[in-house]
Amino acid sequence: MRFYLNEKEFIETDFPIDLSIGIAENQTLSAWYVTPPKMEVVRENGFLGSVEEGGDVNFRSIWFNPHGHGTHTESCGHITKEIFSVNKVLKTYFFRALLISLQPEEQDNGDRVITIPSLPKGINVEALIIRTVPNSEQKITQNYAETNPPFLALEGIKVLNEHGIKHLLLDLPSVDKEKDGGELAFHHSFWEVPQNNRLDRTITELIFVDDATQDGEYILELQLAPFENDASPSRPILYAISTLN
Ligand SMILES: [Zn+2]
Repeated sequence: MRFYLNEKEFIETDFPIDLSIGIAENQTLSAWYVTPPKMEVVRENGFLGSVEEGGDVNFRSIWFNPHGHGTHTESCGHITKEIFSVNKVLKTYFFRALLISLQPEEQDNGDRVITIPSLPKGINVEALIIRTVPNSEQKITQNYAETNPPFLALEGIKVLNEHGIKHLLLDLPSVDKEKDGGELAFHHSFWEVPQNNRLDRTITELIFVDDATQDGEYILELQLAPFENDASPSRPILYAISTLN
């Protein structure tokens, strides 16, 4: 289907670009040292939740961690005493977005730091999507434990604020350094916690943007599983913006 954004621009919903990494049993993708997700057949009171084993239906209970096991979106409830539900704070789902590719800079101590550059003048987007380079499908299966993944330089907040960016998406497990003594400086600054808890801002982590998708402006559709929790598995989708001649 074709949807017009205005008199000139449109998107085609038949060509979604899915940025999500799903959650599977025994997957290797992991962040924050969590063990793999489990999907267990329910066997209670004579009930058997496996067709293969003779049950009527497949009926499995799932254990997973939204922050450690796949693409997820989180609210400031990630770092506040009150667990603000991301499912409650995200109220609209389509946003103008800019995809940029950034190369982390290696510091003497081994840290790889990403600086958010100034965005093109006059650009009007609510979401910024960061693809780190080098980019490879390894991001789909990576176990991030003990890897000190790249993270964002705090100065980038200035650029986000200047452009009123509400939704930040990236292909890393966190915007902050993995072991920063609990400081979480970028998280606090972006969400203005504790002085002004920005319930209108979200961070989406562990996305994957394949190389076929070029940097530039898109329409982002950001949908999540309706868990009432600080974070929930999500499916960010991009749609290319076309222009009538
Ligand atoms: Zn997270």
